[in-house]
Amino acid sequence: MKDKKRKAAIRAEMKATGRRYAAIAREMATRAPARTFLLQDLLNECASFPPATVDWGFPQELAPAVFESQVLGGAVPFSTVLQLAGALAQEGRAARLTLEALHPLETAIVACGARRFDLVLSQDSWMRELCRTPACERTPVHEVIVHCDAHLAERPVRELIDMAREWGCWHSAGVNDPALLMGSPDADELVKAAVNQGAYEQVATALLGACFDDPDTLEDRLIWDEPTGIAIRYAMDRERLRLQQVANTEARRIRKKAEACTACGADLPEWAVLNIPPKFCSKECAPRIPGKAGADPQ
Ligand SMILES: [Zn+2]
Ligand SMILES: [Zn+2]
Repeated sequence: MKDKKRKAAIRAEMKATGRRYAAIAREMATRAPARTFLLQDLLNECASFPPATVDWGFPQELAPAVFESQVLGGAVPFSTVLQLAGALAQEGRAARLTLEALHPLETAIVACGARRFDLVLSQDSWMRELCRTPACERTPVHEVIVHCDAHLAERPVRELIDMAREWGCWHSAGVNDPALLMGSPDADELVKAAVNQGAYEQVATALLGACFDDPDTLEDRLIWDEPTGIAIRYAMDRERLRLQQVANTEARRIRKKAEACTACGADLPEWAVLNIPPKFCSKECAPRIPGKAGADPQ
């Protein structure tokens, strides 16, 4: 909808219903069907469209330089488009994007494949990558842990293991002191998500293996002098213990909240074993996890 027409429609609805402008604008934005476009289309507009004047309701000098984008259907800062292009540099100009939501002069949420971005329209170069779960407005735990803490717990175990591995490599790259690898809140989030599915052991093992070069499993043990090997083993054992505590606390928390077994309704024992999802009373009630020892192959 053209901007003038849109504003007129909002005002008409304000008169008819007595509701606030912002509330109606927000609702209209979510009513609009999702539109798709190429990054190239947005870049072409950014390169050729003149600056637009917008009534922001705050001093012009604080406002970003914007153009009226036909692709997005509203004013968008030049610099934010460039920042989006930077984030999608690997996908290239032919990257196909979907406009998930537009709150005019506030934010636009666009998706490219599984990745999602929140473009802040009222400020220069302000964009944040969002959790990959559709419609979620929270930020991911980490660049390689691509969901927010709430949605991470819903991801398949195979994915959690892959993320743990990737994060471990990322976290340990270029770090020479193993003590610096301990105690990351990112590791805690992965472990908590794993506990939710009874997959603590697999995820923690993948994480620790990627984080620390285990001196016992390295093919060429000779590259480690003894003190280095001891320091690594010490740090790894301490981190394993720490993660186990995080896992136990999370399992107890989930148990307390769930009160009864999700499958059979029986009371849940207060203690929790980490290889059974805490919302279930027993192995028999818990869903089978593909890729987990003892589960059916898929
Ligand atoms: Zn999320
Ligand atoms: Zn049960």
